[in-house]
Amino acid sequence: MINRYPREVAEGVFALGGWWGALAYLAVGAETLLIDTGVSHVAGAIQRAVRATGVHPGSIDRIVLTHYDYDHSGSAAQLARDLDVPVAIHAADAALVSNPSDSPGLRRLLYHQPVPQVLRWEPPEIATTLGEGDTVGDWQVLHTPGHTPGSMSLVRDDVGIVGDALVFWRGRLIPNVRHLATDVAAQEASTRRLATSALRTVLPGHYSVCTDPNAVEALRRRLAA
Ligand SMILES: [Zn+2]
Repeated sequence: MINRYPREVAEGVFALGGWWGALAYLAVGAETLLIDTGVSHVAGAIQRAVRATGVHPGSIDRIVLTHYDYDHSGSAAQLARDLDVPVAIHAADAALVSNPSDSPGLRRLLYHQPVPQVLRWEPPEIATTLGEGDTVGDWQVLHTPGHTPGSMSLVRDDVGIVGDALVFWRGRLIPNVRHLATDVAAQEASTRRLATSALRTVLPGHYSVCTDPNAVEALRRRLAA
């Protein structure tokens, strides 16, 4: 399937595009949210994509990051400046944004200098930390850790923006790769939690969106097998 961006993938929710394959979303509602920001130096491209949806970038109220990885937080600092908006992230990942070399697992190497410098990563300033059960705009926060300690999903009715907690690959929702997890057991628990949810539209951080209403149930069945 060819992905055309930006496009509306749920009511008031737009997939803006992929930068290094990392998807960013715009959600219009009680608050207009920009969810994830691609890699570094794509702030202009993201703003153009927002405009192409018919939404003025100046109406964005807040940037929400599903987790702190380079390819999701890369342009957050620039966009926060350009749009004069606060950045929110889960508390556990907020701690790593300020001290990335404290990252657990493989990320200890990935977030140690000179890698952030080479990638020209500018860690965003975090204005608000979020946690399980919080609401942001029309969305409820689910803490779905494992890929990173503070990975979170945003849920509104049966729509979930899940960051890298799940991947949609070749028509199937699948768990993310284990070697990138900071905590494999937590990632498995988060996968099970999302697999037993009532989500019918799953908007992951990579590859493509999943609007197959049966995909979550299919994941649940595969995990149980
Ligand atoms: Zn990630």
